[in-house]
Parts: sequence; structure tokens; C-alpha cells
Amino acid sequence: MTEEEYKEAEEYINKYLKDHDVLIATPEEDLLLDRLTACINCGTCTMYCPLLDLTNGELSPRKIAIEVSRTEPDWKTVRKIVYDCTLCGKCEEVCPESVPVPRIVKNIRARILRQSPSSMLPEYIAMQKNLTEMRSAYIPMDEEDKQDYIEDDLENFGWTKTADKYLEKAGVVYFGGCQARERLFLIRESVKLLLEALHVDYSLLEEEGCCGLPASLIGDVSLSDDLANSVIKKCKEKQAKIVLTTCAGCTAKLKEDFQKFEAGIDVKHLIEYIIEDIGLEAFKKMIKKSPPTTITVTLHNPCDLHRGSGKYFVSYTEQILKNLPNIIYETLPDAERCCGAGGLSDLFIPDVTKELQKQKAIDIQATPASIVIAPCPRCINQIEEGLHEMNSEKKVLDMSMFLNLFLYGGFENL
Ligand code: SF4
Ligand code: SF4
Repeated sequence: MTEEEYKEAEEYINKYLKDHDVLIATPEEDLLLDRLTACINCGTCTMYCPLLDLTNGELSPRKIAIEVSRTEPDWKTVRKIVYDCTLCGKCEEVCPESVPVPRIVKNIRARILRQSPSSMLPEYIAMQKNLTEMRSAYIPMDEEDKQDYIEDDLENFGWTKTADKYLEKAGVVYFGGCQARERLFLIRESVKLLLEALHVDYSLLEEEGCCGLPASLIGDVSLSDDLANSVIKKCKEKQAKIVLTTCAGCTAKLKEDFQKFEAGIDVKHLIEYIIEDIGLEAFKKMIKKSPPTTITVTLHNPCDLHRGSGKYFVSYTEQILKNLPNIIYETLPDAERCCGAGGLSDLFIPDVTKELQKQKAIDIQATPASIVIAPCPRCINQIEEGLHEMNSEKKVLDMSMFLNLFLYGGFENL
């Protein structure tokens, strides 16, 4: 075949695939899709999927499993389903055959991006552009404005600002991620304050970048790997032993990638770090302030922590909360149900994710707690908005902020 004939044939095949809405899998993808054949069609996943009722039965993990593995897939339907999914992981958790529906959903998103990038949402394209050009999911805020926000945020708690610390070498590197760096600044500032008080040998990363999670959610696997590898390289240069995180999504993503690329560095969310490295007893000895009267708190469990990273997160977090003076811990019913912040599905089904947000806010409002701990910036945003819309006075705090109250005070400003 001449080069020209080859090109012509290739164009014909691509046109055929496009016209017939066919998606081609790589051999690795085929292996993953093979896992769907383990599905026994029991429907348990669908019963537990938080989106089933909210989408009038349109989104069902069983549909993904059956549609893709047993029938000639209708890719138009599958495409809608895979973008709606919040990737909460509940279906895989309850599946008796451990069918990895969330991984398959991400995989199909990657195939769609590879084969028809023009069908991407403009928001996806903008995000891909930011991630490629700025190594960040968000356009960085003007530095002066950012500092003003930080000062206001700290003042609200009565805390003083700590300088950013960049060391050549450090045992612990704090990776705040795009949200803490560009949106919820107080989390990053709180962690710095906390690590200073605990005398931790830590450093920030000069050009922190993104963990790669948003890239993997839009299906850009090579960009996602590239971003994760650049974090690994920077942490290795600092000879870090631990990468400390505060975002549930970054935690799950970096844990997976640090293992996949054999980085030899532990990735730990702050909650893990407090329990495993600082120690609860040691932390308790550092406490200088306690609430003047008892405060009731509750906990939202982010999907990417307890399903994405490890079941121990719930018990770790509860241990911390139950050991703090003058704190009453109250369980949140259905605490591990998705708040609607995951999977970028808010770009596709904003009304549905809004409903998940509302359900979460209603559940929190019904508890006697005045504070809800949400150890993930995306969940904080989502829950805060939900509570605000119901005129609730309850506060949503990250664990670093909450712990700082016991070290630096500020209960009166809550
Ligand atoms: S729970 Fe698992 S086995 Fe049952 S229908 Fe869902 S994917 Fe299939
Ligand atoms: S990951 Fe969550 S939202 Fe997606 S199909 Fe499974 S249960 Fe439903």
C-alpha cells in the first residue's frame, strides 16, 4: 500500500468510526473492560448509586456494566452516563464481584477524549488548557489580591500569617493542590501554622503544580501522568519521606500514582499524619486552648478519602475528634454519601449535583452539630454553599483549621 493509499484508508476508517459513534479500546483498556464480564447483574450497585433516583433511573452502574459488556454498546447513552457519574465509588464498594465501575467510567472518558476531542465540553477544554499551560486547574489569582484574601481570612480567626517556607531538603513536603493554592487559601495557611506549631521539618514546593486528578477526570491520561510525575520529581529533589495532603482528591490520586511510578515516598492526608506520625497523645500535649463551652461537631466523609484512599480514614478522623477537649462528636447519617462535588459531573448535570448538595446540607442541618468537618476543599465548597442556601449558621471546617483552634485559639470567632 502506498503512503497515499494508507492515508486514504485511515481517513475512511476514522470517518466510519465517527459516523457510527464507535469507540476503540487499547489492549490495556480491553483488559479493564473484561472485568465487566464478572458482573452477575444483581443490581446492588444501582440500588446504592446516589444518582439513580435523581436522574430518573438514567444513571445506573449496572447499565454501564451491562450496556458495555453484554450488548452492542449504544455509545451515545454510555457517553451521557460516564459524564454524569460523580465517581463516588459506592457501586464498586457494594458490588459482590468488585466490578470497578468508576475506573471503567474514567477509562471510557479517556477513550472519548482520544477519539473525538471536538465533542468535549468547553469547560473541559478550558481546564485542559489551564492544566497544560499553567500546571493548575485554575487561572492563578493576582498575587496582591490573594494576599489580601489570606490576611482577611486569617484575621477572621485571629491568626497571624506565616511566611511560605521553601527548603532545599525536608522530610515532609506539603502539597496543598490547586484548590488550597488558588481558592481556599485558608487551608494552606492553616497547615503552615499547624506544622510550625508541631515543629515539623517541612517545605512547600516552589512550583507546586497539579496532582493530575482533573486531567484524569477529563480523560487526558498522558497529561495526568505528566503532572503527577512532575510532583514526584520535585518531592524527590527535596528528599522528602512524606508528602502531606489536605485534599481528598489529591490524596487518592497521589497515593495511586506514587505507587504506580514507584516514587518511594509516602503520601499521607493530614488526618493520617496526625494519627500515624505526630500521635494523638503528643498532639493532646500541644493543646493550649479549648472551647469555653462544649461544641458539637459532625463529620462528612469525602468519597476520595474513605473509598478512594482507605477505610481507616473514618476511624482515624473520629479518634481525633473524640480526643479533643470540650468536643462532642455526633455522627452524620449517611456521612459517606457523595456531596455532589466529585467527578466534574456538576458540569454536565448541575441540577442533580445541586440536589446531592441539598441533601447533604439537610442532613447536616438536622444534627445538633454547629461545626461540620469536611477534610477536602471541594467538599467544603460544596457543603458551605448548600448550608448557605438554607440560611444555616453551621460552619464547615477543614481538619487543619479545626486543629489550629486548639493551638492558636479563635473559638470566639466561629
Ligand atoms: S453490583 Fe456488581 S455484579 Fe451486581 S449489577 Fe452491579 S456491577 Fe454487576
Ligand atoms: S461511581 Fe457513584 S455515581 Fe458513579 S455509577 Fe458508581 S455509585 Fe453511581
